[in-house]
Amino acid sequence: HAKERGRSGFRFYQPQMNMSLLSRMKLDHAMRLALEQQQFKLYYQPQVDLKTGAIVGAEALIRWHDEALGNVSPAHFIPVAEETGVIIPIGNWVLKTAIEQASQWKSKNIIIAINVSALQFQQSNFVEIVSAALQAAELSPAFVELELTESILINDAEDALQKLQALATLGVKLSIDDFGTGYSSLNYLKRFPLNKLKIDRSFVQEAPDNDSDVAICSAIINLSHALNLKVIAEGVETEEQKAFLIDAGCDEMQGYLFSPAIPADEFEKLL
Ligand code: C2E
Ligand code: MG
Ligand code: MG
Ligand code: MG
Repeated sequence: HAKERGRSGFRFYQPQMNMSLLSRMKLDHAMRLALEQQQFKLYYQPQVDLKTGAIVGAEALIRWHDEALGNVSPAHFIPVAEETGVIIPIGNWVLKTAIEQASQWKSKNIIIAINVSALQFQQSNFVEIVSAALQAAELSPAFVELELTESILINDAEDALQKLQALATLGVKLSIDDFGTGYSSLNYLKRFPLNKLKIDRSFVQEAPDNDSDVAICSAIINLSHALNLKVIAEGVETEEQKAFLIDAGCDEMQGYLFSPAIPADEFEKLL
């Protein structure tokens, strides 16, 4: 899913439009090799409770350093992986690795949030893959949150509903990533067993100066609470943004102000 917004103020590729078929095929090949050679790593970005200041969770974010390509951003390679299908083995590796890590952090009482791509979710045995990974790591599902995109809920809503109900019954938490940037049908909010909405960085970035962003953030926070959902703001970079979010009643935040995504051993030191 290509995004028009950039990170860090840059405009990222929309790979479908800007990359030739050949470069996408080369990248696909490089990703398959990287999987085989275990070049992918997971970093963890803290999620902080805005009332207590405690770290209550971590989002697992994939990192890739390739000898020839250097550091490749997931904003660049994940959309191509989704196009070519290699996101399925990559996503399943992410799931397994993040759950193993979560199992090592059981006693720390933090929830690990894992990004799930649409194609990965569409695997007919997706629920079984999650439940097998939990069993193998001897981890309670309560420590795991799956970050879904709005596109997951739109494509084949009936199949999605079934899987989400099975995951919720299993005890896994479910959140909507980049809330408000997808095909914003609010209909699914009442149908699906969700736990949390993630306010997209693009709405946080210019708060509290931009009145529209303030209104949108406040509306998402109020909507979440009215629906008994938790709400987290992503991309929090300044004290002003944090103060605004506390004032608006947001539950949690995640962003460079507190910490970027860091390797597991550094994350442990932070805890
Ligand atoms: P996302 O899931 O919305 O993740 C948040 C992104 O915002 C991450 O970028 C994170 O490093 C970045 N970020 C966090 N705080 C700040 C901040 O304060 N300022 C700014 N400017 N950025 C911040 P990252 O790691 O480059 O990942 C980009 C996207 O790639 C993710 O967006 C997600 O859609 C995808 N992605 C990353 N890892 C995975 C993965 O393991 N599986 C899947 N399917 N997708 C992934
Ligand atoms: Mg995410
Ligand atoms: Mg996000
Ligand atoms: Mg995002």
